[in-house]
Amino acid sequence: MTMRFLVCFLLAAALFPAWPLHAAQLRLECPEVIGIGLPFVVRVESDEPMDKLLVEWGGKKLQVPGAGERSVEFLLGSDVLKSRPGSQTLRVTRLGLSPLAVETYILVEKRDFPEQRLTVPPDMATPPAAVQERIAAENALVRETLARVSPVSHLSLPLIRPVPGGVSSAYGLRRFFNDLERNPHRGLDLEAGLGDPVRAAAAGQVVLAADHYYGGRSVFIDHGLGVYSVYMHLDEFKVGQGAMVEAGQIIGLAGKTGRVTGPHLHLGLYVLDLAVDPSALFFKTGQ
Ligand SMILES: [Zn+2]
Repeated sequence: MTMRFLVCFLLAAALFPAWPLHAAQLRLECPEVIGIGLPFVVRVESDEPMDKLLVEWGGKKLQVPGAGERSVEFLLGSDVLKSRPGSQTLRVTRLGLSPLAVETYILVEKRDFPEQRLTVPPDMATPPAAVQERIAAENALVRETLARVSPVSHLSLPLIRPVPGGVSSAYGLRRFFNDLERNPHRGLDLEAGLGDPVRAAAAGQVVLAADHYYGGRSVFIDHGLGVYSVYMHLDEFKVGQGAMVEAGQIIGLAGKTGRVTGPHLHLGLYVLDLAVDPSALFFKTGQ
């Protein structure tokens, strides 16, 4: 991944200008420019042990436990559908007896994504009225699930590739189903045969395992701090809702349930309800 990191030395006196500058320091390490849809790691370093951080990014708030450490990392990102290119503010506040805030700007850069034209059965391109209610209920459940932020992180990077197959459809493709433009592809399609084992990309808790109209049999894993991975079109579940899973554990078998043209795995990765490109986290930074 070719993320450019900038060390932003920001002496923080914004919140409490009367506070002596030398008494407290907070430093952010984050990319200066990042392509839209790409996830990125933010590292916060503090001159004193941190209890809790409040992170503000893209209109969302996230509380990150400091666990008494002087350095903390967490994941953020933007979404090809929901985010807009341009300069965005990242604000981090160290909460506690002597609260302190630092702010920096990250340029979310426009990227051009190719078109993809797919042919599916007509009721998958334009669902019949009879299933609209079902789709709305499933969307509401997914939104509610992805909006929850668990306070403990189980995430470890790089992610484990859930299936060995190559990428058949990249993140961000502009999608036309039967010549009708639909939402861009907000995940990654990986080649997989019917019945191939699918592994958890990282440790976490299975918070949803359900059969959805578009996603087919889908598993949602909560990795904590607003990070979720999602596995769609499964033939079979190998874990139940509520189960804790290890990184690399088999969670299901690949299939072709839902809106598909053949068996494959759709892998989604969400950060604070923003769909980011999972492929950026398969490899260590700099590789
Ligand atoms: Zn897909």
